[in-house]
Order: sequence, then structure tokens, then C-alpha cells
Amino acid sequence: MKKLELHWKILIGMLLGLVFGYIMLQVDGGDSFINKWIQPLGTIFVKLLKLIAIPLILASLIKGISDLKDISKFANIGLRTIIIYVFTTVIAITIGLLLVNTLQPGNGVSESTIAQLTETYANDNNVQSKISEATRQKESGPLQFLEDMVPDNAFSALSDNKLMLQVIFFAIFLGISMLLIGEKSAKPLKDFFDSLNEVVLKMVDLIMLTAPYAVFALLSSVVVSSGDPELLYALLYYSIVVVIGLILMIVFYCLIVTFIIKKNPFWFLKEISPAQLLAFSTSSSAATLPVTMERVEEHIGVDKEVSSFVLPVGATINMDGTSLYQAVAAVFIAQALGFDLTFTDQLIIVLTALLASIGSAAVPGAGMVMLVIVLEAVGFPADKLAIGLALIFAVDRPLDMCRTVVNVTGDATVSMLVAKSVGKLGKPKIKNWDDNYEEV
Ligand code: ASP
Repeated sequence: MKKLELHWKILIGMLLGLVFGYIMLQVDGGDSFINKWIQPLGTIFVKLLKLIAIPLILASLIKGISDLKDISKFANIGLRTIIIYVFTTVIAITIGLLLVNTLQPGNGVSESTIAQLTETYANDNNVQSKISEATRQKESGPLQFLEDMVPDNAFSALSDNKLMLQVIFFAIFLGISMLLIGEKSAKPLKDFFDSLNEVVLKMVDLIMLTAPYAVFALLSSVVVSSGDPELLYALLYYSIVVVIGLILMIVFYCLIVTFIIKKNPFWFLKEISPAQLLAFSTSSSAATLPVTMERVEEHIGVDKEVSSFVLPVGATINMDGTSLYQAVAAVFIAQALGFDLTFTDQLIIVLTALLASIGSAAVPGAGMVMLVIVLEAVGFPADKLAIGLALIFAVDRPLDMCRTVVNVTGDATVSMLVAKSVGKLGKPKIKNWDDNYEEV
């Protein structure tokens, strides 16, 4: 077992978790055993990852910026990042729309399934809370997100994981000011953050030692809390369409890796796979972020100057998987409920899904909240929103797991792309078999 590479260990943990969850479902009281005795292990693991996310972002972003020799370089990296993020998200939405319009999964849903899903989920607290959360978010003005990004108290920003953009803002502000006061005066602070950065990366390593066991716990809990298998089956076609779209997105990233970054895509997938597997198990790009950063910096060779900015920003605003899912889900709901969408409506979906994926929090289920906003933008009747969400609710969790993998892979790809474009993609610290990969 010791010799086995990390991603294999995690994969084995996941499979055993699935099997164990399935067995416990058949046993009387099995689900409560898992909830009481197994699930806490998974929850502790996710908490540990979240625990180090903020110190890691702070330390590595400040280190990254204060290592730069001039600020214009940073603006250059920032601009490239945002442009590429928007570009990949638009590609994701377009793939989603093309698939859902061609394969039309919504047209095959029978009246009785709609009735059954509506009855089961339309009044579910979760569905209702997603709608009210969306209404709350929609009521804020267009510049609200800028206002939200600026903290009025650095310490409260640092104390709340939901305020990641505020931490990023604070770290950039501090890093730039350190650059401005000059190397000599900034040195003590820089040394402190350099050392903090190293320590936190070590903490990631230590936490990852428990990953194979934690994913076992996480996946067995997912299995026992999944809904009625018959309803899952009724939504199989829709789920397959989403998954095909997500796979196409991974193919798209591999093409970028091969032809633009000029690296072996299998090597990339292998090195990033622990982060992907955790994204799948936790459904949260925010919880996965420390591992994504560690993999990209130490195993792929992206310089901290780039990764420390691109990855935390990406975890919050770049969600290609989520935006693809939102496009497919919105059209699927419209098809199933007989709501006609014009070409303009589809364009509106592109725009709102883009904004919505930027606004989605990097936590489980967030994409569904924003889906409400996408649906409302195309004039979907407000009184039918609960029915619409009820249609897709049963499969939201498994699809969330899949789209989070794409969200994380997208961030990693863009960090490589930006690094390559500014000459900051070097040899990884940790040796791997791409060392001999010849540049094409
Ligand atoms: N769970 C996703 C993430 O963390 C967001 C979502 O699509 O719900 O990336």
C-alpha cells in the first residue's frame, strides 16, 4: 500500500466507500451507523482543508506578489487570468447549450415523472431555501459584488471562509504595499509569509495522508443520503447529457495542455488527479483549493507568482463545470415543462450563466441557487420555479460532484496557461515522468 501512488489510494478509498455505503443501505439501521460513526471522519477532513485555505491564500498570494520585481507584471497576470477565465466559461456554456438542444433530454420526461418529482421535492426545505437565497442575491445592485469584495475589517474577512474574495483583496493590497516600501523594509514581513507558506504546504501534505480514509467516509455518506433510486433513474438521460458535456470540457483542457502549453495531457491529468478526486468527494472547490495549489505548484511547476493569484481567484469566480450544468439544467427544465426558449433566450442564458457561475460560492449545491437566477432571466414563471428545481434536485448532488471536478481542472489548466504565457512554467519540484517530455 505504501508504494501505491496517492491517486490510486484515494480511488480505492472512494470505491470502497461506495460499496460500503451500498451494503449499509441494505442493512437495517445502516444509514444511521454511517451518519453517526463514519460521516464525522469525512467532515473533519473537509474542515481541516478549509482550515488551512485562508492562511494558504494569504501567505502564498503575499509571497507571490512581493516576489515580483514590478507591479505592472502583476496587472499583466491579472488581466490574462480574467480574460482566459471568461473565455473558458463561455466555451463551457456553449458546449452545454449545444448538447442540450441537440439531445433534448427534457422532451423525454413523462407527465407522471414530473408529477412525482414535484410532489417529492417542490416543497422540500432545500429547494425553497435555494429560491429565497437566489431572490436575496438578485435584489442586490449590479455593483454589489465590488462592494462585497472590499473588507472593512481585515480580521473578520480572515475569519470567514465565505469571504475568500475579501482575503484575496487584502492580500493583494498588502503585497503591493510591500513592493512599494522596498525590499529592505519589507523583508521581515516577507520572510514571515515565506515561512508561513512553506508550513501550510506541509500541513496540506499531512492532511493528504488521511485522504484515502476520508474519501471512504465522504462517499459512503453520500450513498446513504442519496434519494429514491427510481427517481434517479428517471433523470438518467439528463444526467448523461451533463456528464458528456463535462467530459468534453476535460477534453478541451487536454487540448489546451497539448497544443498551447505543449505538455503531455496524461501527465497533467495524473498530477492533478488527487485534487480532482477530492473535488469529486467533497463537491467543494474551496475545500479542494489547498490541494489544487499544492499539486499545481509542486507537481506541475507553475510559479507561485501565478498560481497564488490564479487559483484562489479561480476557485471563487471560474466555474466552467457549474456554468455548463446551469445551461443544460435551465434548458432541460424549460423542455420538460413545455416552456419555449427563443434564440435570444439562449443568448441570455450564456450571459447570465457566465455571471451566475462567477457569483456562485465554491461550496456544495451553490450552482443550483444561481440556476434560479438564470431561469428568471429568461422569463421563467416565478410560481413554477419550485417545480423546475424539483425536477433536477434528485440528481443535483452526483452532478455537483462531477461539475466540481471540472471547476478545479479548469482552474489548474488556466494557471498553467497563464504561467506559460508569462514564462513562469518551470520544472516541478517533485520529480515525475514528464521530466523527459520533449517540448513539441
Ligand atoms: N460545488 C461547486 C464548487 O464548489 C459549485 C456548484 O456548482 O454548486 O465548485
